[in-house]
Amino acid sequence: MADYDLLIIGAGIAGLSMAHYAASAGLKTRVLESEQRAGGCLHSHRFGGALDGFWLELGAHSSFNSYGNLLAILERIQLLNRLQRRAKVGFRLFAEGAVHGIPSQLYVSELLLAPFRLIGMKKTGRSVADYFGSIVGPRNYAAVFEPAFSAVICQPAGDFPADSLFRSRPRRKDVPRGFTLSGGLQTIADSLSRQPGIVVELGCAAREIRRDGANFVVHTDGGEYAARALCLATPVAVAAELLRTEFPHLADPLAQIQTARVETVGVAAPVAALKLPPLAGLIGRNEAFYSAVSRDTVPNPAYRGFTFHFRPGVLDEAGKRARMGAALGLPRTAFGPEHTVMKINQLPALRVGHDAVIRAVDHALAGSRLALTGNYFTGVAIEDCVTRSLGEFARLRREGW
Ligand SMILES: Cc1cc2nc3c(=O)[nH]c(=O)nc-3n(C[C@H](O)[C@H](O)[C@H](O)COP(=O)(O)OP(=O)(O)OC[C@H]3O[C@@H](n4cnc5c(N)ncnc54)[C@H](O)[C@@H]3O)c2cc1C
Repeated sequence: MADYDLLIIGAGIAGLSMAHYAASAGLKTRVLESEQRAGGCLHSHRFGGALDGFWLELGAHSSFNSYGNLLAILERIQLLNRLQRRAKVGFRLFAEGAVHGIPSQLYVSELLLAPFRLIGMKKTGRSVADYFGSIVGPRNYAAVFEPAFSAVICQPAGDFPADSLFRSRPRRKDVPRGFTLSGGLQTIADSLSRQPGIVVELGCAAREIRRDGANFVVHTDGGEYAARALCLATPVAVAAELLRTEFPHLADPLAQIQTARVETVGVAAPVAALKLPPLAGLIGRNEAFYSAVSRDTVPNPAYRGFTFHFRPGVLDEAGKRARMGAALGLPRTAFGPEHTVMKINQLPALRVGHDAVIRAVDHALAGSRLALTGNYFTGVAIEDCVTRSLGEFARLRREGW
């Protein structure tokens, strides 16, 4: 006998949006989350002590008015009134130990032909380096675009599929173009977790998945859960591992998808201590960090926050403090434990040909009550995750569940 209509493993935006669709349809739903916090990559760290109330984003920082499926959910759970427009501040480049304006780093003569090179260009089947490099020219690509794209996806961007990087979607005119929420994007995860009909069990890691007739049984350290349908909404490497025993035909293609690791450090500093003008963030070129994302998009009178996303395995803690100090113009003493917070982030490292892997996965899922969602299908953006969840929910319904 199944305890649940749908069991979801992972309470990031993919799992929580799936839970939203299922709970809204009146299905008995449960979400298992290994961490003590729901949200996954939606992670607005809220400081305590003297900085009480100040937050910064350790993961995703921006949503856009093109995120139609996300916005439809926010509207249904009455969160649209908590949207906060991001202040219009720009990115700058940090290279050779100094902060530069982006226009000063561009080779204008090489850019002049870009509109003509765009004519007839197709992204499909091409890498970011190949597609964008041939539009903006090799010097512009190396000086500005490669570092900027790597900053967006927190990994070396060159081999990423060009069509997975930016996706054109219709924009809603009644919503700010770029937005967060009061309290940060974590507010989305917190609100979805509290939606009637959604129960998120924190600190509950799925260890093993078994089939029991037509049902699924998930084993955790605290016991087992049986459900009529199962949705995996974990990072791809975890999904591959959990599916290995009972569903090797799914685990095999998933195991081909690589993962990029990011060593993230957030720091809060008093406004008066910093000389940098307000900015959206620093893009690292030939640097140990891909980016330093700023909280200046949601200004605070007392503190500023910066989240450094470091390349993995390059610097130890002292080295990171030194780089953060150099970029922000702060002494190392500014990075005490009460002002800093660390996290390991993971993102899929998609490659050209990824669509064929996903076709194989979707073929293997067809006809089953097993669903897969997350950031390793069409792209890594929040909206890509929500859209995948919506599609998988519709498919489960079509399977007669
Ligand atoms: C630094 C960074 C910046 C980003 N910036 C943006 C941005 O500005 N805008 C944007 O649109 N996107 C951004 N993204 C991408 C986007 O945030 C993520 O791709 C998306 O949030 C991933 O959601 P998810 O639910 O698929 O996975 P996750 O958020 O990774 O959630 C997976 C969940 O599964 C849980 N889990 C893992 N193993 C188990 C297990 N065995 N049992 C139970 N639970 C388990 C994890 O703890 C986690 O909570 C950013 C990502 C990062 C890392």
